Amino acid sequence: MTRTPLSTTLDEYEMWFLTGSQHLYGPETLAQVADQSQQIAAQLSEAPDVAVKLVWKPVLTDSEAIKRIALEANADDRVIGVMAWMHTFSPAKMWIAGLDALRKPLAHLHTQANVELPWADIDFDFMNLNQAAHGDREFGYIQTRLGVPRKTIVGHAGDPRVQRELGTWQRAAAGLAASRSLKLARFGDNMRFVAVTEGDKTEAELRLGVQVNTWGVNELAEAVAAASDAEVDALIDEYEELYEIAPELRRGGERHQSLRDGAAIEIGLRSFLEEGGFGAFTTSFEDLGELKQLPGLAVQRLMAEGYGFGAEGDWKTAILVRIANVMGAGLPGGASLMEDYTYDMTPGDELILGAHMLEVSPSLTTQKPSLEVHPLGIGGKDDPVRLVFTADPGPAVVVAMSDMRDRFRLTANVVENVEPRQALPNLPVGRAVWKPAPDFNTSAAAWLTTGAAHHTVMSTAVGLEAFRDFAEMAEIELLAIDDSTNITEFQKQVRWNQAYYRLAQGL
Ligand code: MN
Repeated sequence: MTRTPLSTTLDEYEMWFLTGSQHLYGPETLAQVADQSQQIAAQLSEAPDVAVKLVWKPVLTDSEAIKRIALEANADDRVIGVMAWMHTFSPAKMWIAGLDALRKPLAHLHTQANVELPWADIDFDFMNLNQAAHGDREFGYIQTRLGVPRKTIVGHAGDPRVQRELGTWQRAAAGLAASRSLKLARFGDNMRFVAVTEGDKTEAELRLGVQVNTWGVNELAEAVAAASDAEVDALIDEYEELYEIAPELRRGGERHQSLRDGAAIEIGLRSFLEEGGFGAFTTSFEDLGELKQLPGLAVQRLMAEGYGFGAEGDWKTAILVRIANVMGAGLPGGASLMEDYTYDMTPGDELILGAHMLEVSPSLTTQKPSLEVHPLGIGGKDDPVRLVFTADPGPAVVVAMSDMRDRFRLTANVVENVEPRQALPNLPVGRAVWKPAPDFNTSAAAWLTTGAAHHTVMSTAVGLEAFRDFAEMAEIELLAIDDSTNITEFQKQVRWNQAYYRLAQGL
């Protein structure tokens, strides 16, 4: 069977740079437009924060060419989105058919070639050449009139803020592209009786393009049983390089077999995922079939490689972990399943301790994790091997997806990971400790108001803005809890959104 290793890189993607103009001012002006727009595309493309290659396309001057380029962008899997800029003035009826046909995310760049005006020399030729100030307003009108979701980026191409905004948007678009080609394997169903991990898998395929399907866990167990001793030995060599292995798990140690069982689970899981072309998966501790342990180490390592994962059958969080891994490709930090577990409620200095039974990605730490085995109270299986570490201090965001019956809702909270107040010698799992913005009370009240889940993706590679851009282009609701959140206004926003999203989707 062919195996497709998962790709989590932005290198294979591109974004097209489209320039709008018209024939009114003659070929000489159009040549200048082409020249200047190529320079802007090149300047942006070379900026360090711009993550995806920008490909300049010839200047567009009529509706047929605009529609044609939109259809080409739709059909090309490498293209994650298009950027449009109206150099001179591009009468916007020319854009109706193209924008109506465009199925890729759109960023509207509102800029001009020059920074300062040549005050002493300016004449009307200059004015006619450099009139994006009103050309882009015409374009804004038609986008709004057609209801086209887009990001508007304002500023000169040389401004680092503009470059950062574009780079973040590209990462969001790459996340959406990855989502639209994502296949997710569920081993077993959701944890019994749990509400928030349920959801409409058909709607997920329509909105996000993700195929969510279930396999019997014993198909996975068969792949695990097929792992050879040589494969297990090779993987244990790799563990020895990367982790501080507990003495009892090492070769010759009395519990070395537990590590071999854990390695076999990783080998089997990886082969199952690669053979099926899956980029995300879920497990369920209530449905482990012939597996000897709840997959811990294997899941942690696969998440760190870019796979999406949700525990207890939580496929919605698994999708978010995959998307966050793609959005953060190449950046420091990572993405992981996270669960708000318990609080330190010291007044005014509250902290949230997040973890899971086992499955937290080591991409959240730059320290060397320790590889240990300990009992697990649930699941009724052998003690599972797991990586133990604490997430690095620094900025992060946690994001949850809830199914609100008529739509998906994302809730995001900006947080700051901090060092635990004391060592945690009796908590041998991957964990993170954080302070939520704007403060604990507001954050928790807002989170509970939106009906957001206890499972999240925690991203330390990309922040709120990437998820905001993602939600905009996927046309999914996102409620953000950050330093500007006021609970009274937030509650109103939740109510208004109920009405808005129902109306926006038609009655
Ligand atoms: Mn859980």
